[in-house]
Amino acid sequence: MKGIIIDGRAIANKIKDELSQTIHGLIKNNVTPKMAVLHIGEDPASISYTKSINRVASKLNIDVDIKKIEDTTCDEKVIEEIKRLNEDRTIHGILIQEPIPPQFNRDNIILSISPLKDIDCMNPVNLGGVMRGKFNFAPSTPLGVLKILAHEKINVEGKHVVIVGRSTIVGKPLANLLLIKGRGGNATVTVCHSKSSDLIHFVKMADIVIAAVGRAKLIKGDMVKQGAVVIDVGINSIIDNEGKHKLVGDVDFDTVAEVASYITPVPGGVGPVTTLMLLSNLIKATKENLI
Ligand code: NAD
Repeated sequence: MKGIIIDGRAIANKIKDELSQTIHGLIKNNVTPKMAVLHIGEDPASISYTKSINRVASKLNIDVDIKKIEDTTCDEKVIEEIKRLNEDRTIHGILIQEPIPPQFNRDNIILSISPLKDIDCMNPVNLGGVMRGKFNFAPSTPLGVLKILAHEKINVEGKHVVIVGRSTIVGKPLANLLLIKGRGGNATVTVCHSKSSDLIHFVKMADIVIAAVGRAKLIKGDMVKQGAVVIDVGINSIIDNEGKHKLVGDVDFDTVAEVASYITPVPGGVGPVTTLMLLSNLIKATKENLI
């Protein structure tokens, strides 16, 4: 059996069409949605993510203000800049690109983002809302995963979802969203991580596997139950047999596609949908800031 390959780009295009109508309405009322993206340091992966956000945003007539902050700057200056953005009424959303270099106090920086402009749900106030199941903003990657499942009409209620990865930005909030009592939730969730003693045992039990690890091709076909849904969040750069750089996921696509009922590819799966969920959060913030 060959699984259905989920087309993340097609889903992203649908969301784009829906968003562009709302944005058109806002612009007609003289409001141009605008986000600030703060880069602290020069991480190449986050620079490339910002470029891709900017590319999609500009097609939607969303303004993106990219602020580069030297990694020699002190915490106070970064927080001052964030506070200035919090006060700026033309900025509707703030994204701080990760990783924040280790010499900075990440907790203090994140806490200074206004929860009302925190479009990637970094501030613990918003993350707490996700845990309670009552929130303004959830992180864009977990929202992207849920969007993909909903788009493919894959009902998670009563299903055993195994998430591999317990990060604060993907694994943990995704687990909380899947546990919500209500539509789109009600799943039974297991979260595995680097210290889980028998990863294969847990993955093999899953009706839905979500890999968010950052280890190329960790999940192999013989670890997955026949007919399971497999969502690959991972993005890993590897050198292929011809010596070229190639992006692959945490899932060994070729072997897993043989047993899965649905599978997302990398690239072209979760990534494009994530970007659109971030922009959806920005539009939500723009509308709410008008009130
Ligand atoms: P992270 O490094 O913060 O967390 C990785 C998690 O994987 C940790 O919880 C760790 O315990 C777990 N882990 C590590 N090795 C393991 C192993 N051998 N077995 C089981 N668990 C293991 O990473 P993150 O920020 O959550 O990102 C995960 C991956 O998703 C990365 O490849 C990242 O690039 C990608 N990502 C993609 C998107 C997207 O939009 N597609 C967004 C965010 C992150």
